[in-house]
Amino acid sequence: MILIENAKVLSDGKLKSANILIEENKIKAIGDVKDKSDYVINAKELAVIPGLFNSHTHCAMTLFRGYAEDMPLQEWLEKKIWPAEARLNEEIVYWASKLACVEMLKSGTTFFFDMYFFPSATARAVEETGIRACLSSAFFDFFSKDLLEANLKRVEKELNELKNFKVLRAIAPHAVYTVSLEGLKRAMEIAEKEDIFVHFHLAETEKEVIDFRKKNGNGIVKALDEIGFLNQRLISAHCVWLEKEEIELMAKRKVSAVHCPTSNMKLSVGKALNYPEMKKAGLNVLLGTDGTASNNSLDMLREMKVSALLQKFYYGADSFKAVDAFKIATENASKAFGIKAGKVEVGWLADLVLIDLSKIPMNPCHDLIANLVYSSASECIDTVIVDGKIVVENGYFEGEEKILEKFNKIAEKFFGSA
Ligand SMILES: [Zn+2]
Repeated sequence: MILIENAKVLSDGKLKSANILIEENKIKAIGDVKDKSDYVINAKELAVIPGLFNSHTHCAMTLFRGYAEDMPLQEWLEKKIWPAEARLNEEIVYWASKLACVEMLKSGTTFFFDMYFFPSATARAVEETGIRACLSSAFFDFFSKDLLEANLKRVEKELNELKNFKVLRAIAPHAVYTVSLEGLKRAMEIAEKEDIFVHFHLAETEKEVIDFRKKNGNGIVKALDEIGFLNQRLISAHCVWLEKEEIELMAKRKVSAVHCPTSNMKLSVGKALNYPEMKKAGLNVLLGTDGTASNNSLDMLREMKVSALLQKFYYGADSFKAVDAFKIATENASKAFGIKAGKVEVGWLADLVLIDLSKIPMNPCHDLIANLVYSSASECIDTVIVDGKIVVENGYFEGEEKILEKFNKIAEKFFGSA
């Protein structure tokens, strides 16, 4: 049992002092509770918030941080990222994922939704670092039947291997410009059979939308609906170039859309996800960093700020508030993934972040959420608890230096041989 003593918690928009008791992996009580706990955290200067959900990333891409800069999406993928990814192996993905998990935990993220190769290697990193995750087995078919069959065999094998780890699972057909409609249909059939999520990139650029219409004579969302691809298993990153009717249809089918503002701006996709329209339609919006090749950080505190700035810049100052940024990084994701975290409430999972209110960016504290979204930085993260276990203490992840050292050796070898 862990007792967080004299913590500041948000109650009706105001900070109140309370004790929080954690038993096993859940919040057992909040208020004036005392107990013979194994561990007591003196939280006089600490605010307790739910852990953040990074709902779209490619975490092993930490390896490519700063590697391919200042290019538009297609050129960036074809000239730099895909050729480098062809040289990856299990060991590289393991260490790059491990560094990513530590980076996320230290910046207050307790859950991430990943799409990458060698998902079992990432699963090992997840278990060893103590973060929570949903990992996908990713594939392309480049419109070849043979490639689709070969890749689906690999995907089924990888999904089976993931059963050995404490992670949620997903299948990830990459996007409509890399996977055929037949491939998408088969992916959803596998998802239904395995009862797992589908991770996908949707309507990221105008080119993607125009090319699809030229080739298929149909809008993407309508075509996806016709093959039964739209339902609540589907969690789609980007969702930038969508029409009002497409947003309404996605909302009706209970799809979730993931806002990736930093990546979208950096790769210059030309528009912002239409949050006001999505909110009106009741479409569930989440927040993600995307990979470190296009961000170049996995820091969700920073991502909340960028999401608010982009939405305000594009749709007006009151179109998106600090509380919206916080909500898409917590509650909305909790709903999409069916994980009872994302709120500090009795009976909910103890996936919690303790914020150091004595740090400069948190002062004065008129509005905790506004400070979190607009001024905080990972230096304000004191303690991170996932599934009832303390994984970051005093801003430190035990053994982080060794992980970084090993990662840098691997990176040196990888790029040295290029
Ligand atoms: Zn992505």
